[in-house]
Amino acid sequence: MRPPDASFIRRCMKRYYFERFDMIELPSDMPKREFGFRRADSGMVRHLQLHDSADLRVLLLQAVPLEVYVSNARYLLPSQPIPEKVWEDAHLIFDIDAKDLDLECRPSHTVASCERCGHGTSGPCERCGHRGIRKTSVACPSCMRAAGDQADRLLDILADDLGVREGVRVYFSGNEGFHVHVHDEQLARLGAAERVELADYVAFRGMLPERLGVARDGASSLPRPSEGGWRGRFAREVLGSKAGRSRTAREISSGGYDAFARRVEGMTSGLGVRIDPGVTMDVHRIFRMPGTVNGKSGMAKVPCADLKRFDPYVSAVVFSDEPVHIRASCPVSFRMMKRRFGPYANEYVRVPAYAAAYMVCKGLAHVVE
Ligand SMILES: [Zn+2]
Ligand SMILES: [Zn+2]
Repeated sequence: MRPPDASFIRRCMKRYYFERFDMIELPSDMPKREFGFRRADSGMVRHLQLHDSADLRVLLLQAVPLEVYVSNARYLLPSQPIPEKVWEDAHLIFDIDAKDLDLECRPSHTVASCERCGHGTSGPCERCGHRGIRKTSVACPSCMRAAGDQADRLLDILADDLGVREGVRVYFSGNEGFHVHVHDEQLARLGAAERVELADYVAFRGMLPERLGVARDGASSLPRPSEGGWRGRFAREVLGSKAGRSRTAREISSGGYDAFARRVEGMTSGLGVRIDPGVTMDVHRIFRMPGTVNGKSGMAKVPCADLKRFDPYVSAVVFSDEPVHIRASCPVSFRMMKRRFGPYANEYVRVPAYAAAYMVCKGLAHVVE
């Protein structure tokens, strides 16, 4: 980030953390958590221990980090290196990101620009000759709806298949996805291997035909729509009508077990929830802290009580609407606070601080000094 851009973002963040510290969700057992942060001009600092909200306030207002992280794990000694921390437990986290959903709209709002000067380009930069290209995705409501649908499906699986209804909190990540945190004492004690199994289950990955009633010897008892878990979901969403059931039964008797197994494998991405499995199985990760600003967008990670009605481009906008003079190269228009911005072809414009910060964080605009 150029110095004037970095100092503008820093001013916005400082004001937000000063005026809206109440937006930050303090973790339970705060002294047992590991904290970390990253500033615009430096690498990651982690293995920090903070004892209370006063410690955090000092960190936010003095270091003014671009990103703030906290562990989902509790440790006896959070400031020690990982092998010496003494892990106690870690609440379960699922990460859903629009970029992993292979959506058709992605190319239409993905912007390629020169890494060095920000000039919009898809090959070597015509302006400065630099070869590095940076790709950024600009606000897209259909991406967010699709990610929200995945989160909704995850909530159904947690409730219906695993009986987890209490302590489930959904957050908008601040950029293009959702984080689902499960505050459940029993699940928090699961080890990494059990979390891999759980992530596979949610993603419908590695589902054995036997679990769907198809055995190697060919005898098949296909699941009924009224059954619970994946059996019922498979019956409702794949087998469908009576005709669909008998067609599948015929296919199994002619094609055999292996053909059915391949078919089931091919359904993973359509049926399962597209979570990032690496996030769920990692019990030592530090994770974006609820209420803090996402440095990739200038929007905040905020709780999301109703996925159907949630508009991140309103609810997660936390910077002011003071006009800021920028030079913007953003070939895709976007909406924030129900206002439309862009497209901008290397133009000098005055826009509210929240929209300026959004474009600056994405490398699509520079503050004019
Ligand atoms: Zn360039
Ligand atoms: Zn999209």
